[in-house]
Amino acid sequence: MVYQAHSSRYESMEYRRCGRSGLKLPAISLGLWHNFGDTTLIDNSRQLLRRAFDVGITHLDLANNYGPPPGSAEENFGRILREDFLPYRDELIISTKAGYTMWDGPYGDWGSRKYLIASLDQSLKRMGLEYVDIFYHHRPDPETPLEETMRTLDNLVRQGKALYVGLSNYPADLARQAIDMLNDLGTPCLIHQPKYSLFERGPENGLLDVLQEKGVGSIAFSPLAGGQLTDRYLNGIPADSRAASGSRFLNPDQLTEEKLMKVRKLNAIAERRGQKLSQMALAWVLRDDKITSVLIGASKISQIDDAVGMLANRRFSAAEQAEIEAVLA
Ligand code: NDP
Repeated sequence: MVYQAHSSRYESMEYRRCGRSGLKLPAISLGLWHNFGDTTLIDNSRQLLRRAFDVGITHLDLANNYGPPPGSAEENFGRILREDFLPYRDELIISTKAGYTMWDGPYGDWGSRKYLIASLDQSLKRMGLEYVDIFYHHRPDPETPLEETMRTLDNLVRQGKALYVGLSNYPADLARQAIDMLNDLGTPCLIHQPKYSLFERGPENGLLDVLQEKGVGSIAFSPLAGGQLTDRYLNGIPADSRAASGSRFLNPDQLTEEKLMKVRKLNAIAERRGQKLSQMALAWVLRDDKITSVLIGASKISQIDDAVGMLANRRFSAAEQAEIEAVLA
């Protein structure tokens, strides 16, 4: 059946300005790292995208290597875009990235001009797009001169292949240098994508301050720690969960008794607040204006609905914040 987006799709989502740019992003964005590769039925992926867009999630985040196999998330997304979303292309912010291993040999990894230009061309072909809205350098490259990488991002914008550029996984000092270089080149850095959640506090040690000072937006990836900050693992490891999938990013060994104890205590705080743990975890990441958007993953439509349900209960009292910190200490 031809997809028709819900007419109420802009009614409940909040859109937040991304740094000092002209662009607004939804408070909740959807990432296609898991559940969009060739190992997932395309109809499941399609239903997730439809629901996301129907509730106002206008930002979809990809990377060259998402799958498995690498590239297949962009290919499958391209197909769904063609079949469902072409009339809505201008209502979407589509991002992709390059920086991790993508193809064999010395030109399919890291941050050279050779790699980034070839990779974005491949991504555009896979998705059937003329341009992406945001192109990221996915991780810092310790060997390529930073200037070469930043100059390439600037060139890609000038060539019309990306509207904005971003950085991901750059530590605070390097982010500051890269942001300054991009400013000098005349292509301001739109956004930084760090890993940030109740369990992952690294960005608080300088990165978020640099971004605020420089007027760069921020989008927190894995805000649910891949599902650990939800009720998913409270009573064992469900067969359809990421931890049971053989993922090297979340394996049962990571779900230690110590961690589960914290999760149970956080879950009790969330219950008192009248929300699910996943909702509290997302609200916490969005608790002040340092983070523009939370970048979630979802394997089920109900998980997208949970995330959106969070928007109604986002405030934390000082006592609640202190209690959360005490659990995490
Ligand atoms: P999350 O921390 O949001 O984890 C998502 C997973 O949590 C889901 O797949 C699901 O797992 C579980 N989950 C979500 N909602 C609920 C719920 N309401 N109740 C119970 N379980 C729930 O994010 P991801 O780790 O998936 O990362 C999100 C995005 O961030 C990626 O798609 C990608 O775009 C980006 N990313 C960027 C990186 C970078 O280097 N820049 C690295 C990693 C991610 P289950 O399968 O068990 O149902």
